[in-house]
Amino acid sequence: MTPTIAKAIWCCFVIAWWAMRYPHERKAKKAGVVASRRDTQEMLLLGISLSGLGIVPMIYVFTKFGGIGERTFIPSLAWLGLLLALGALLFFYRTHQQLGRNWSVSLELRDKHQLVVSGVYRYVRHPMYSAFFLWAVAQALLLPNWIAGFSGLAGFGTLFFFRVGREEELMIEAFGDQYRHYMARTARVIPFIY
Ligand code: SAH
Repeated sequence: MTPTIAKAIWCCFVIAWWAMRYPHERKAKKAGVVASRRDTQEMLLLGISLSGLGIVPMIYVFTKFGGIGERTFIPSLAWLGLLLALGALLFFYRTHQQLGRNWSVSLELRDKHQLVVSGVYRYVRHPMYSAFFLWAVAQALLLPNWIAGFSGLAGFGTLFFFRVGREEELMIEAFGDQYRHYMARTARVIPFIY
């Protein structure tokens, strides 16, 4: 493993993620929205997350930031990053498949929204966010630069911590005790831990 290969892996991952997400995005968009929290805060958070997981590392991959923030490349960590990235992709695939038309890039309730509680949703109630955290850690391990490596964790972490409570409130409004009971038997992103 070399820094160039690690950067190429990061690029391939982004492309694979988009290719996987796109058909689901199209399908979900066909289902109408009956309630939405897509406000200024949400748009700002989406922008912050996109910058940390996409724009900042992309600029680094193509410019190296002129050497600013560079760290020693550690091949074994990069291999671990590849493993985590593959795990994240698998999780993205499963969560999209299971959420189906209920999925939304923002906080929205679809027409005839159904609560998904099985499969990857059985032990954690935000498995797609678990996948994003896996990806963010993979990015930190693959890219040998402190800024580009950790911008994913900072960006997605910001979105997660400001959004997750509001998302759960929205789900309680829509599903009441069914969601409260679901919350009581699941963790947020790490099974049995958090
Ligand atoms: N937080 C979830 C879903 C992210 S997509 C995860 O990490 O897997 C965000 C949208 O999914 C929100 O608009 C919310 O309405 C919807 N959602 C969240 N949890 C859900 C569930 N268990 N079943 C159905 N829809 C859900």
